[in-house]
Amino acid sequence: MKIICIGRNYIEHARELNNAVPEKPIFFMKPDSALLTKNKPFFLPPFSTEVHHEVELVLKISRLGKHIDEKYARRYYGEISIGIDFTARDLQRECKQKGLPWEIAKAFDGSAPVGEFLPKNELSDPVLFHLDINGETVQQGSTADLIFSFDKVIAYISQYITLRTGDLIFTGTPAGVGPVKKDDRLQAYIGDRLLLDFMVK
Ligand code: MG
Repeated sequence: MKIICIGRNYIEHARELNNAVPEKPIFFMKPDSALLTKNKPFFLPPFSTEVHHEVELVLKISRLGKHIDEKYARRYYGEISIGIDFTARDLQRECKQKGLPWEIAKAFDGSAPVGEFLPKNELSDPVLFHLDINGETVQQGSTADLIFSFDKVIAYISQYITLRTGDLIFTGTPAGVGPVKKDDRLQAYIGDRLLLDFMVK
């Protein structure tokens, strides 16, 4: 099982980090050891002083596919959840400056908490989602604001990498990313359904 993450898929977020709006999807990966489920706590890693939350909708791949045509892409995922693409922003900044890969900033243990999955046909269109920290909303998004739709993302990734049942795709974060600290409580919602609820330790 693998985790593939899309970067810069909402214009306002690309702008807040002074990144260009991409012409093609950008993706990177996290290993299965990054996955955090069942609302287990997230432990701040000792190597970063600036771990940011990025709340994202997460697709679960439901069948094997490669070179998937965009018009059939919706057949390749059946469930959606919400997750956090935790990012060691200080390390990522250094990686970007030096032109290095992002893994130490993105792929560390526990960097991919994921909530309970819902069948995609239970969701509204567009899908609205948000993240609360200690009861206050810090990020909110709508799939109406995606630069690259879920179908485009699946078609694009599958040109390069075979998608298998159970693989997860983080689809990008809206604006409002920021640091988390010890004892923060993160609660992520799709619509008004609380699907992910965990503590930072
Ligand atoms: Mg992200």
